[in-house]
Amino acid sequence: MAVQFYNTLSQQAEEFSPARDNTVRMYTCGPTVYDFAHIGNFRTFTFVDLLRKWLRASGFHLDHVMNITDVDDKIIRNAAAHRKTLEEYTAIYTRAFLEDCDKLRLERPEHLVPATSHINDMVEAIERLGAADHTYKSDGSVYFRISSFAGYGKLSHNDFSGNIAGARVDVDSYDKADARDFALWKAPKEGERFWDTPIGPGRPGWHIECSVMAIKYLGETLDIHAGGVDLIFPHHENEIAQSESLTGKPFARFWLHAEFLLVEGQKMSKSLGNYFTLRDVLDRGYKPETVRYLLASVPYRKSLNFTFDGLKSAETAIERLRNFKLRLESDRFPEGATEAVTRRTAQACRAFTDGMNADLNTAEALGAIFEYIRDANSAMDSGGFGAGDVPGALELLALFDRVFAVIEPTAATGQVSDEEVEARIAERTAAKKARDFARADDVRKQLLDQGIILEDTKAGVRWKRK
Ligand code: AMP
Ligand code: ZN
Repeated sequence: MAVQFYNTLSQQAEEFSPARDNTVRMYTCGPTVYDFAHIGNFRTFTFVDLLRKWLRASGFHLDHVMNITDVDDKIIRNAAAHRKTLEEYTAIYTRAFLEDCDKLRLERPEHLVPATSHINDMVEAIERLGAADHTYKSDGSVYFRISSFAGYGKLSHNDFSGNIAGARVDVDSYDKADARDFALWKAPKEGERFWDTPIGPGRPGWHIECSVMAIKYLGETLDIHAGGVDLIFPHHENEIAQSESLTGKPFARFWLHAEFLLVEGQKMSKSLGNYFTLRDVLDRGYKPETVRYLLASVPYRKSLNFTFDGLKSAETAIERLRNFKLRLESDRFPEGATEAVTRRTAQACRAFTDGMNADLNTAEALGAIFEYIRDANSAMDSGGFGAGDVPGALELLALFDRVFAVIEPTAATGQVSDEEVEARIAERTAAKKARDFARADDVRKQLLDQGIILEDTKAGVRWKRK
């Protein structure tokens, strides 16, 4: 089965392959860097990361652009309140965002592009839209006339034909009921940062940056465009109107949208105040990979209710994966492979792949892995798992972790290295041989203080991090 995605545009699951040369040209909407991102935002970015990793595991190359929205109303307001220039202010939160992405093991897109580095490209696009009669000016701002684009509403599946022509909106987000001509270029208000350009002084609206940067780096038609469901309208609808009016071509073949992270049934958001940043969660002692696991564990088109119990279950799940890997690497198994396990491993690999291919059904994919671990563990307990079965099982875990990326523990700062642990274990073994049990016990206790747990087994000493 090839990979299938649910396409918001067609409202159907469709088989996916890139239009040209095995490379997926993909655009995803990035953060607005006015504050720390919350873990709701990171649910969407984690989905994008899973998408990247699964596309790559499926044999495709990636050419992926993500924007950094570094000019908008909230940024201008916050920068002024902190007496910082726009650049100083957004540099702080761009860096914080990238640090958080690294902690969550989110790969960098091939192009990470700030809006303010593309003002000229946007001005040029607005001029071209003007020449094609899609815009009008009012009080120094430039608006896109939605009645000039016949397909307006095709992504959000709304019929806007009865709309009052000419009603305008300056803010970047608004309800479906308010489908309005939207600002491409905003005239400067008193004290606001602006750019002097051939279309007058001002700054770009939010929507135009994505159209312009997507087309600049990826061409007129993208394979995939993705973001959170809150972006379907108006943001992505407006991106389509702008882009297709500019090129006359379909803007994106597949539109993928991630559902929200919820807190007690409500969207996690800055405005409701019900949010946790990644830093908040890590300060409570959780590891970044635990957050990643939780965010990845529910298929992206289902909303996910955030709870600390959920994080605890994620911790337990990761522990099971690590223990299984440790057992594979350190137990001694009877020689040879068993036919039953070989078959079971191949079946688990297929079930995992089928799950991911089915619109990234991570719940199904995880189910396949944990059922396999349960069966493999019982085979091991009953002596039915051979040394020859180990490589296949490790390969399955590697396939899993190429996408989920949670098995490797995050190194705490100042943490002892693997080599140091091995050296201390050798020291302890030598002490035991010399019947210096007090010394051997000291080493074990010191390692425990550093978060290293030793386990003496028939096959030798096993160790893991707490
Ligand atoms: P922003 O920084 O506000 O532009 O949002 C960045 C991304 O986070 C967008 O793709 C939003 O759709 C997404 N997002 C915002 N809130 C949530 C949430 N509670 N759950 C999932 N995604 C969200
Ligand atoms: Zn966008």
